[in-house]
Amino acid sequence: MAETTDCVVIGAGVIGLACAREMALAGHEVVVIEAEDTIGMHTSSRNTSCIHAGINYVPGSLKAKLVLRGKELLYGFCPQHGVGHRRCGKLMVALDETGAMELPKLKANAETNGLDDLEFLEPARVREMEPELRFHTVLYSPSSGIIDAHELMLALLGEAEDNGAALALSSPVLGGRVVGSGVEIDVGGKQATTIRCRIAINAAGLGAQKIAAAIDGVPPATVPAQVLSKGIYFVAASKRPFSHLIYPLPGEHANAVHVSPDIAGAVRFGPNTLPTDHVDYSVDESYAPFFYDAARRFWPAIEDGDLVPGWAGVRPKTSNARASRNDFTVHDKTVHGVQGLVNLYGIESPGLTCSMAIAEHVAGLVEAA
Ligand SMILES: Cc1cc2nc3c(=O)[nH]c(=O)nc-3n(C[C@H](O)[C@H](O)[C@H](O)COP(=O)(O)OP(=O)(O)OC[C@H]3O[C@@H](n4cnc5c(N)ncnc54)[C@H](O)[C@@H]3O)c2cc1C
Repeated sequence: MAETTDCVVIGAGVIGLACAREMALAGHEVVVIEAEDTIGMHTSSRNTSCIHAGINYVPGSLKAKLVLRGKELLYGFCPQHGVGHRRCGKLMVALDETGAMELPKLKANAETNGLDDLEFLEPARVREMEPELRFHTVLYSPSSGIIDAHELMLALLGEAEDNGAALALSSPVLGGRVVGSGVEIDVGGKQATTIRCRIAINAAGLGAQKIAAAIDGVPPATVPAQVLSKGIYFVAASKRPFSHLIYPLPGEHANAVHVSPDIAGAVRFGPNTLPTDHVDYSVDESYAPFFYDAARRFWPAIEDGDLVPGWAGVRPKTSNARASRNDFTVHDKTVHGVQGLVNLYGIESPGLTCSMAIAEHVAGLVEAA
């Protein structure tokens, strides 16, 4: 006989935990079901940990809307909950005339999206902010920042649990079925069980499509394709050449990598873009020349030995389009016809920034159903 609860959240990454908190705060009985033996083992701990400002997303897209709200929510939540973060600002760095022509377009797009604090910097100010940077023209985003993603997940989980949510680890969801006005979820692992719920939120990241396809009653045609794109990082071994986020332009250049300091000040380069058909977090050291060449474009003082291999993440995409063009895909009853089920697909960047706003959006869909 199935156990019952009001709301099941599948996946304890940042999205599932933000949804669990939101639903628990709204008074729902919530159980979070996670396949791994701890939270945040996948994309949520394998990213750049940048709080995006909302510059280059397609106007009117979910990303464009949720990133502004998500950023605002994070900057409110983090200080209250002791989550490490820093509003360090981002320099969009044109390296030549071609790059410089891109900057006014970025500024105009940001303004269309409601972000009106971008400013062009005088060269003297850039040299003061980043003495090691080679640049042609710089557009500055003061509201971009960095965050400790694991501390964020712990804080979201803590508040969810304080409001009655329960977390089941080592509990892979195998599939399920639509029953009456709810969903039954089959859970494997040592304590295999079936849970019947009124609301089910599929926030399984890289596993979202597989789970949706295994729920009997979800029309297969509504499950989008999954496209994986691996990104690896290299890290500055001992030097700390930059203290701001740095986005070199032209951004689509084959050699483009971004710079991000972490909360402790270590400087990371990446991610690059590697199409793949499986999840694999190994870091191939043979990419070192690529990273040195890319970094040398804007960090002329880089020396051999300055970079060491870092880590890798896999972007859960629904198409090959780059992140600013490929929107989040959020399916509720209006798409798949199943009362109470929300499937979240393609939650790639800026999903971390948007996490709390995605949770608000999902809660709104559930309440409206
Ligand atoms: C290289 C890279 C860089 C990025 N940089 C940024 C950035 O700087 N800023 C930003 O805002 N965003 C960034 N992102 C995006 C951001 O990291 C993601 O949008 C976000 O972490 C997605 O969280 P999630 O909870 O959906 O996925 P995940 O963190 O992957 O969580 C999904 C969870 O579901 C669980 N799961 C899967 N299958 C099952 C199953 N069958 N049963 C039970 N549980 C299951 C997994 O174990 C996992 O814990 C980046 C992403 C990548 C890949």
